[in-house]
Amino acid sequence: MSEALVTYLKARLDDEADLARRCDGDGCGRWSAHGNTVEFCEVEISGFHPAIAQHLALHDPTRVLREIEAKRRVLARHVLSPAVGDPQPPWDDRDDCQFDGAPWPCDDVLDLASPCVDHPDFPRGT
Ligand SMILES: [Zn+2]
Repeated sequence: MSEALVTYLKARLDDEADLARRCDGDGCGRWSAHGNTVEFCEVEISGFHPAIAQHLALHDPTRVLREIEAKRRVLARHVLSPAVGDPQPPWDDRDDCQFDGAPWPCDDVLDLASPCVDHPDFPRGT
């Protein structure tokens, strides 16, 4: 698995950011939960189990966008240092992570990908 996983991750983060921006409308404010009700964009929807209402409110688009930016920063740090063709070859003769030296893809990149392994575009065995 080479750069396919990184390309895939960037596409998923772009998709999630696009969806979060579309859910925020015109910056309609913070999502919140009150009992079985979720309040967002001057709308209230009730009838949820309180835990589900809290879970939905936790996906406030502003918060989701901050989380996506944090994931992008992590992904930007963990880049492939190829064994071949890199002007600064890795210590060992293998593809590894330039940030932590672990075999590529490193655990941090795999952890970023782990929530979306069931997506149809997930690169398998490449
Ligand atoms: Zn790494």
